[in-house]
This record gives sequence, C-alpha cells and structure tokens, in this order.
Amino acid sequence: MTSDLSPDALPPASSGHIRLTSHSGGLDALPIRWGAPTPAERGPVVGTTSRRSHRNVIGTHSGSYSVYRALAVAAGALSREHRADLTDTAPTDVVGPHPQWSEPDRIVSLDPWGAVTSDVFADRLAAGHDIRPTIAITKAHVILPEIADAIAQGRLRPDGRFLLDSGAALVTKAAVEPVWYLPGVAQRFGCTEAALRRVLFEETGGMYPELVTRSDLEVFLPPIGGQTVYIFGSATDLVNPEVELTARVHDECNGSDVFGSDICTCRPYLTHAIEECILCAQRGGVGLVAYSRKEGRALGEVTKFLVYNARKRQVGGDTAEQYFARTECVAGVQDMRFQELMPDVLHWLGIRKIHRLVSMSNMKYDAITGSGIEVGERVNIPDELIPADAQVEIDAKMAAGYFTPGQVPDAAELGKAKGRGLGT
Ligand SMILES: [Zn+2]
Repeated sequence: MTSDLSPDALPPASSGHIRLTSHSGGLDALPIRWGAPTPAERGPVVGTTSRRSHRNVIGTHSGSYSVYRALAVAAGALSREHRADLTDTAPTDVVGPHPQWSEPDRIVSLDPWGAVTSDVFADRLAAGHDIRPTIAITKAHVILPEIADAIAQGRLRPDGRFLLDSGAALVTKAAVEPVWYLPGVAQRFGCTEAALRRVLFEETGGMYPELVTRSDLEVFLPPIGGQTVYIFGSATDLVNPEVELTARVHDECNGSDVFGSDICTCRPYLTHAIEECILCAQRGGVGLVAYSRKEGRALGEVTKFLVYNARKRQVGGDTAEQYFARTECVAGVQDMRFQELMPDVLHWLGIRKIHRLVSMSNMKYDAITGSGIEVGERVNIPDELIPADAQVEIDAKMAAGYFTPGQVPDAAELGKAKGRGLGT
C-alpha cells in the first residue's frame, strides 16, 4: 500500500507499483551547471533514491556499491528513507577550490565539490535535499613490509614526521566516487553525447533508461569503482609547481597488490612508488599515489585469469611477443583502462606539475601531459624489483612503447619464453 506516502516517495521494497524513470522529474530538482565557478551556481549533485522529484542525475551514489545497497533494502536491512547523519564527517584536509575546478572540460568524471557538500550546500540540505558527499578525506598510517625492509636496508630513515620508527608512513587519503558529466566524457572519447548515452544504455543491458530518454539530465553516477588518492606530506603543497611532487597513478591489480602474485610488477612498482613518495616528502616535497579501481586493465579478474591460462598454455609458452595478443584474443582489446579520465583527479588536487612520475606507461604519460600537466622525470621500476615471472609483461610493455631508460627488447628477445608454465 502506498497511500500514506508523499507523491514522489518510492513505495517500500517489493510492494506497490514500479515508477519508471523515463519521464521528466519534478520541479523541485536543482539544476546542475557543470564547471560553474561557485558551488551556488554549479548546484549540488543529487542522486538520492528516496525523493524522486529532487533527483538531478542519472544513476545513484556509491558506484558499484549501489547494488549492495539495493540488496540491503531488498533484505529489509536498510530503510530506503535513511538519511546519512554527517555529523563529524568533514574532511581532515582542505582541497581547493582550485581554478581547474571551473576551467572548461578540465574535470568531467568527478564532482570537485564532492568533499564539501555539507558545507557549501548547507542551505539546500537544511531545505530537505538529500545531498551526499561523493568524496571523503581522512588521515591514516600505512604500514607495508617493503617499507620496513627499506628502513632495515638503510634506504629510508624514520623522521617522526612522515615516517615513524614503527615503519608507519603518515598519509592523507581521499576516496573519490565517479560522477560523470556526459557531454564532457563524450568529448574525451571523441564521440557524440548521443552515441555515448546509447552505448552506455545498451551495454548495461538497458540498466538506465534515462540515458536515452532524459537528455536534460547531463550527469551520470555510473555503477563502477572509484579511486583513492594517498598523499605523503601536505595536500596544500600539491598545487605549488615549485614544490617537488613525486606521483604514481596506479590501476588496481588485486592479485599482485594484495596477494603478492608474481606474474606482474604491480605491487613492487606500487611499493617502490610509496618509497619514492616518502623520500620526496622528507626532502621538502610531497608524494601522491592515485589508485584507480580498474582491475585487470579494467577487464576484470575473470578475463585476466583466462588470459593467464591462455598465455601459459599456448604453443611456445609464455612470451612477451604474444603478451598483448593473448589478451586481445580473450577480451577483444588489449586494454580497457582508457586513461582519458584519469587526470581529472590530479586537476581536482590542483596539480600543475609532476616532477617525478613513477610510471613507465606511455598511455598514462600522454593522458597527463595532454591534459596540461607538466611532467619532469619518469621513474622506471628498478630491475631488481621485477619478479622473474613478470619479465614477459615488462618486456612486452617496453616493446609497445612504455618508457624505459634502458634497451628496448628486440624481436628475438620477445620471442623467448620467460614465463613459468602452469602447475610449476
Ligand atoms: Zn598486476
């Protein structure tokens, strides 16, 4: 029964009729003017599911976790009317506002005001709009065995400020949910907004009809993973091109990052970057790791593991020569990370110059410099950190254009099997 609900409230889960989302919303929705210089002119991103007439976006908050929220509602564990109590949740550090926040097309995949919604939209919140942060900023200590090892070997020295005697590094970290301005995303990928909307609709199995029926809604909260930034040193120093910045943009690799799989260089490169970030902070600079949830080149782990098997079972064994081809056979493409949106988080932080980029990826380098950020030195992974089974990957990448200060492997080198076989 829905008679006791206000006209635009949703009925309780699994009862009442379904309201389609394909017609215009209520008059209560606040407009979004993407890229406007002040939050008042820009307007809040409202992805609430509890008050339909207030919604001014397609999709909802929390990225892929929105599906778990639906499960919680379906299971009766969560009230759809729950409003977040945001007492004491304010950011620990101030980020922005920076000029990049309102420079045309500079940021199209996150909401630069997403960390300070409670502050800048306080009046709208008080008026009853369910405005949720899409960015949260906090402090942490990070403790990694590789950093303890670097201390033991004398490469790092605890200073009580950036690195403690216990081996803990002090960081400021920010979690960022995706908020896509569809006209800007389409422009980045060189397609029309209409084509982008249609393909997003069709390739999600028709999950968001508003993509094709509501051209007035220009902002989409996609059901995908977000990103996390870790700052070693002061966040305010990131904006000053005179302060040395060491940065790595890292794409998630659960198998290596968390579980220590030796088929790739992900964790060793990540921990090397963290070591470089700590050193940079200690010599008066600042360090940054931006970590994106793009597991397995954004192909996902199932595809990734299928590719591993195909690589190791192919005639001739696991070679760098066949490295990209095996991925393409399974996935249809070599890589789906498409770094076009990646620099947005750097612009949110106000970065103008990266003095030391801890990455060999030409795709990341091109995306960062193409977005207007100057890059000084590029820092490769030291040879001694490359696991034996990962030599295939690193050779293939260098041959394909990844940065290396050394020799680019030739065809003969690429044809030599280097990867371990299955079951050994
Ligand atoms: Zn990896």
